[in-house]
Amino acid sequence: MQIKILKKVLAANDRVADDSRKHYSDNGVLAINLMSSPGSGKTTLIEKTIQALKGKKRIGVVEGDIETSLDADKIAKHGVPIVSINTGPFGGACHLEAAWIRQAADQMDLKEIDLLFVENIGNMVCPAEFDTGSHFNVAVLSTPEGEDKPLKYPLLFNTSQVVVINKCDLLGVLDLDLDLMKENIKKVNPKAVIIELSTKTGEGLDKWTDWLLKELG
Ligand code: MG
Ligand code: ZN
Repeated sequence: MQIKILKKVLAANDRVADDSRKHYSDNGVLAINLMSSPGSGKTTLIEKTIQALKGKKRIGVVEGDIETSLDADKIAKHGVPIVSINTGPFGGACHLEAAWIRQAADQMDLKEIDLLFVENIGNMVCPAEFDTGSHFNVAVLSTPEGEDKPLKYPLLFNTSQVVVINKCDLLGVLDLDLDLMKENIKKVNPKAVIIELSTKTGEGLDKWTDWLLKELG
């Protein structure tokens, strides 16, 4: 019974997601869903991207968090359209569903946006189960999290077309085997595009923005 209900929820979500994807495309918007554990640098990556693409591409953000507007406030400082979804008041869901994101996006003028970032709730499990209606999923994995995470949370990595390895500035002080981390990503998703960068130093960020610009056409 439980499984049947979950299947129904996911099927309903998939329908909304497909419709949203078409809606975003029709409005000339590329939607990118960012997923990761808390603290891997999703918000900072969005901030650095806004700065890097200023004057080139117009960015909007749907910011998901269980509680607080802390991340939304950081993004808002950059003067871009942003709608925050706090799931706390309605059950504290640990993921975003396509319908909630669509409602948030409908509060923006999509004609004024080229790129819509969806910052999902920080955890490596649940967000990957729900199609957000985005065109691409991007997993952000930071170096302190360890090489094993792609093997432990395969769904997150095999539903993501791109994996950003963040905090590469820390490689010198960590006991991390970066090659093994990349091998593990490829093990669960051989087609994944892997981009190594540091949102702190800005190193590698151009590879990320190059990928975005290529997809934006
Ligand atoms: Mg964040
Ligand atoms: Zn959840």
